[in-house]
Amino acid sequence: MLFEPAKVVPPLPSDPHLSSQRDYYEILSVTRESSGDDVKRAYRRMAMKWHPDRNPGNAEAVVEFKSCTEAYEVLSDPERRQLYDRHGHAGLRQQPGHDFSTMHVEDIFSMFGDIFGGGGGGGRRSRGPARGLDLETEVEVSLRDCVTGTKRDVDFKRVDVCKGCTGSGAAKGAKPEKCTVCDGVGQVAQAGFGGMFRMVTACPECRGRRTIVKDKCPDCRGKGRVPTRRKVSVAIPPGVDDGVVIRVRGEGEPPAPESSPDGSGARGDLHVVIRISDDNESTRFERRGDDLVTVAPMAFAQAALGAQLSVPTVDGGTCLVDVPPGSQHGEAVLITGLGMPNLRTKDRGDMHVVLQLIVPKKLSAEQRTLLEEYAKTEKVDIREQTSFWKKIKDQIAGE
Ligand SMILES: [Zn+2]
Ligand SMILES: [Zn+2]
Repeated sequence: MLFEPAKVVPPLPSDPHLSSQRDYYEILSVTRESSGDDVKRAYRRMAMKWHPDRNPGNAEAVVEFKSCTEAYEVLSDPERRQLYDRHGHAGLRQQPGHDFSTMHVEDIFSMFGDIFGGGGGGGRRSRGPARGLDLETEVEVSLRDCVTGTKRDVDFKRVDVCKGCTGSGAAKGAKPEKCTVCDGVGQVAQAGFGGMFRMVTACPECRGRRTIVKDKCPDCRGKGRVPTRRKVSVAIPPGVDDGVVIRVRGEGEPPAPESSPDGSGARGDLHVVIRISDDNESTRFERRGDDLVTVAPMAFAQAALGAQLSVPTVDGGTCLVDVPPGSQHGEAVLITGLGMPNLRTKDRGDMHVVLQLIVPKKLSAEQRTLLEEYAKTEKVDIREQTSFWKKIKDQIAGE
């Protein structure tokens, strides 16, 4: 080999998902030292500020409301908060939370009912059959996995119907009794947010379940739901990219006990977000849609005389790339069909091999003599020179 392997690779664009993942402490305007109560108070304050009823028609308010809820869900749970403190958002990969972006605001209020003064937010209004909540988790795959497709066992925690009481929350032999506070209606009218709103909310006594359990099931302490671990095998199709979401139907949570104590109805979905790992391939190849861009080093004599370069492919193999005589630094050679598969059609895109001219740092005495001889014959046309990056852009744009 005449040249050193390439070390210069065009910088990869920063991960768009990660940059949009805001710091949870920042969202709630609390510090890492803030206590659980401080976090709760901060969430209540932020949720009030961004409450959709106070910001009618403001889509941003809904987004803000949901992101502070997401932040609260993590920071209010000591286990998740610790993982987040140590490893940031990546630490929560195996600890999926609820996908608030797809949730109705009123369901969020039901979940965190106790924070908003016992009530919750209007309970569940009739919106068709009961459906459980969606969960979101992440899996890391290599770029090579994205070429072939792969399978991953996804291990996650979700809330399930308690087997001990089949969701009723009552101990064996005991029966739930009609709630006397709401007279079995499940909802009461009350002033929310310190009198700012008058709203019908889930009953603070029975939490909208219409019944009260005096003799509670020991397994779930009357809740009717218990956290369980679950493992599912998820097929990851060829062509996935960072941030692609794979929806696994029916692997989310069962309907809430308020609307369906025994959990009958439809489970929510599990959303698996794909993350591409940092490895050899992902640093060697830049992805542009279904195409890949890579850099191959070539020596001056190869560029001038023409050559055949052996270039690694994303599959882990190599391919031979013909470098035409007179090739310039920054020019790209197109190799069709060695890009990424298209997620829908499975047709593979192309690979653009950008040629990188390597100038030797040291010359042997013999090389120096030969090159000096050559230099005497050389005439460089200055007008031919254009910017390296403009050339790459033009090549990839197919001009
Ligand atoms: Zn009640
Ligand atoms: Zn139970």
